[in-house]
Amino acid sequence: MRASELLHPRPEGLYCPPGDFFIDPIRPVDRALVTHGHSDHARSGHGAVLATKETLDIMRLRYGDPFAGSTQAAALGESIDLDGVKVTFHPAGHVLGSAQIAVEHGGLRIVASGDYKRQADATCIAFEPVPCDVFITEATFGLPVFRHPPDREETERLLRSVAQFPQRAHVVGAYALGKAQRVIRLLRDCGYEKPIYIHGALETLSAYYQSQGIDLGELRPATVDKADRNDFAGAIVVGPPTAFADRWARRFPDPISCFASGWMRIRQRAKQGGVELPLILSDHADWDELTDTIRETGAGEVWVTHGREEALVRWCELNGIAARPLHLVGYEDEGD
Ligand SMILES: [Zn+2]
Repeated sequence: MRASELLHPRPEGLYCPPGDFFIDPIRPVDRALVTHGHSDHARSGHGAVLATKETLDIMRLRYGDPFAGSTQAAALGESIDLDGVKVTFHPAGHVLGSAQIAVEHGGLRIVASGDYKRQADATCIAFEPVPCDVFITEATFGLPVFRHPPDREETERLLRSVAQFPQRAHVVGAYALGKAQRVIRLLRDCGYEKPIYIHGALETLSAYYQSQGIDLGELRPATVDKADRNDFAGAIVVGPPTAFADRWARRFPDPISCFASGWMRIRQRAKQGGVELPLILSDHADWDELTDTIRETGAGEVWVTHGREEALVRWCELNGIAARPLHLVGYEDEGD
């Protein structure tokens, strides 16, 4: 069997003809396998969804119930047979519940990584390289210029700024699923014990993370009225990036605008967004993580998707690995 007969792109997403399912389809389909809860990968309205229990929970929290005709939870490492195709979920280290999906049939194994990273993250299970014939990798940060610094260094930069400006509020933009909880957890791991204030849009998912045993410490709602505005002097406030557009951040006393994203590596991008304190914190693999991971899987062939495909395809070719861009459309990761 040729690899393209086992999985190939269709307008709805990556399709497996023998198993009759899609991986992370962007349109409603009969049977969807979903790698993680970010909205560009996990859509509502499918006939049946197979995903990790956490991803199903996250979809339920975001879309309401029912968000699909039926759901089935996949335990990590468990073999599931779909019309003779063997499917297994493996941790991806991206956000809580995130998984790579291995698809096996006729002696061929293809691993669709979904989004992934290799830096340790206390809010989700670490990525596990899965040996395979074909590895489908993301390439969000697929250029050699992208090298993420250690996350503790970035967190300590934030804490130094908080100590330096005790009268100002530090308002941190971080995506609602994954990044926000990781930033909070990193602050705790770096010894910050005060309450952390969160925007209403982060409440449900942060409470879900806490219910799954991820300790985020004391979280308080970041609701400001004139009387208690000064309570936020010296505070750390976390909100989704969209809240910054509606001037939410300016309600806090003399706010310092911070943004936690892999894109903060690009100074110009931080400047344009009016970010005073850019924090390079990414939930995606950087260049070294991408190339190391490709080597670790031992794949003879690599398909590259959503991001900067060309540079990574070129790197594979220079290293004797067959590679091609997959040109899947519709994936604009909200997670970074
Ligand atoms: Zn994602």
